[in-house]
Amino acid sequence: MNVATILKAKGSDVSTVSPETRVRDVALLLTERRIGAVLVMQDRQVMGIISERDIVKAVARQGGEALDAPVRDVMTSRVVTCSLNDSVDELMDSMTQGRFRHLPVIEKGELVGIVSIGDVVKHRIAETVMETEALRLYIANG
Ligand code: AMP
Repeated sequence: MNVATILKAKGSDVSTVSPETRVRDVALLLTERRIGAVLVMQDRQVMGIISERDIVKAVARQGGEALDAPVRDVMTSRVVTCSLNDSVDELMDSMTQGRFRHLPVIEKGELVGIVSIGDVVKHRIAETVMETEALRLYIANG
């Protein structure tokens, strides 16, 4: 199973904001859309990623004033990405090593989707269930 399979099921929709968007508006967007992160884009280029964790960190350091700051002050600029052919195992490795839960999908320089740890777990469980069923049938039919 690879990234293309995951995106086929969930679609290629990615929530994005500009670097000038206020942190408070990102918090609202994350809450309304029930997501954990958005990509920061400018001229179709990925400038960064901001997740709920960045907002919590900023508020813990600067208090409520952090909510008035532009996203560019709070986002992570070095974004690790993946591509459509990457396997679910590669995604898990990347998320574990980087200690983050989101991976934008880039194909031919264009953003084509985003995969979260929730998507990875969901597909991993489905894969395990299928493997178990195949084994059960194999044993039953001896
Ligand atoms: P998350 O676990 O996705 O909420 O993110 C934890 C931290 O990692 C936050 O500081 C995010 O900005 C950052 N982060 C999330 N996804 C990525 C990514 N794909 N590449 C680099 N940093 C990321």
